[in-house]
Amino acid sequence: MQIFTDKKIKSLISPPPQAPFLGRGKKGRRKRRNAKLYRHLYNKKMDKLTDIENKVMREERLSFEDGLRLFKSNDLLTIGRLANIVRERKNGDMAYFISNRHLNYSNICVNNCRFCAFRKSKGEEGAYSMRIKDIEQFAESIDSTDFSELHVVGSLEPDFTFQYYIDLLSTLSHLFPGVHIQAFTAVEIAHIAKMGNMPVKDALEKLIDAGLGSLPGGGAEIFNEATRAKICPDKISGNEWLDIMKTAHSLGLKSNATMLYGHIETLKDRVDHLIRLRETQDESGGFLAFIPLAFHPANTEYSSMSRTSGIDDLKMIAISRLMLDNFPHIKAFWIMIGPKLSQISLSFGGDDIDGTVIEEKITHAAGADTERGLTRERLIGMIREAGRVPVERGTLYDHIKVWV
Ligand code: SF4
Repeated sequence: MQIFTDKKIKSLISPPPQAPFLGRGKKGRRKRRNAKLYRHLYNKKMDKLTDIENKVMREERLSFEDGLRLFKSNDLLTIGRLANIVRERKNGDMAYFISNRHLNYSNICVNNCRFCAFRKSKGEEGAYSMRIKDIEQFAESIDSTDFSELHVVGSLEPDFTFQYYIDLLSTLSHLFPGVHIQAFTAVEIAHIAKMGNMPVKDALEKLIDAGLGSLPGGGAEIFNEATRAKICPDKISGNEWLDIMKTAHSLGLKSNATMLYGHIETLKDRVDHLIRLRETQDESGGFLAFIPLAFHPANTEYSSMSRTSGIDDLKMIAISRLMLDNFPHIKAFWIMIGPKLSQISLSFGGDDIDGTVIEEKITHAAGADTERGLTRERLIGMIREAGRVPVERGTLYDHIKVWV
């Protein structure tokens, strides 16, 4: 590893021109004044993040204060450039995507999260719950050779027994042999264990036996207790979410992790969330990717709020890459931020844009205007245009095909 001194780093970042002689008289004075102002602005800008840049170059862990300064900084290009250094250090030029299908088995939920546009009450228009025969019908309607992962998430359905979830997994693994089943957020796992009247560990063991391959990482929202109590008062706490992940990792299950940002959370909440994830990863090591989820306010209790900006989305991805030094992957999920920003994210710390998806329901219920799925060819084209090497991956980041 090459260690850079502060002086060396500054010399690499094209300093302002130092004109030895700028002329005499009025013109010369104006040129000298402008050159001085330029140098002042340059140094001010450099001084702001130089110490963080030093840490990144030396592969040192960033602190809570560093994370907060990055979020408060307007120097998006420096933040992106630093994140890109880490991204290339970890994943080179590779950019991942997956051929997957989404299955949302129910939207009837006992919880009532204020940011959720997906949930319905029983009997409400649009409410649905897929019974096992509906799952079989779904399976018959799709081409099972076309995807390597089934992404299965839903709501906390009050009428489903523990056995339902076992049957759901065994049906899917029987009908789609060889397809990886990534299913249930930690919030659903807590609900399933409760329905089975058993500890989370026992429930997970039974779900694994029925075909569960990994956990998707949703439901983390924001860990800060005060903010969480406002946006999703009925949900398990942030610490419970983390404990379920630790238990899953101890059983050999891999998972992802998420953060819902762009609602009422503070910048401190964001940094705190990232650091709690980083500490958990130090302990259990089972997280594969971090996925920042941009909040979509339409049809929620926060519908008067604006959507996140492109600047905020890029900063979120880049700062996640810088703070989560022990996460192998950062996903710029195209459903959330759109295909165009996902492409740019591949130079701002992101190394994965998710997949073909078909057919997303949860974010679209909250007003997402992206497509509900993309073809493999489109994903490959997007990655190539961004100057990266497309890699079709399996759920656990095994390489299915490298598109050189
Ligand atoms: S976010 Fe999940 S737990 Fe909360 S209301 Fe929506 S479906 Fe239910």
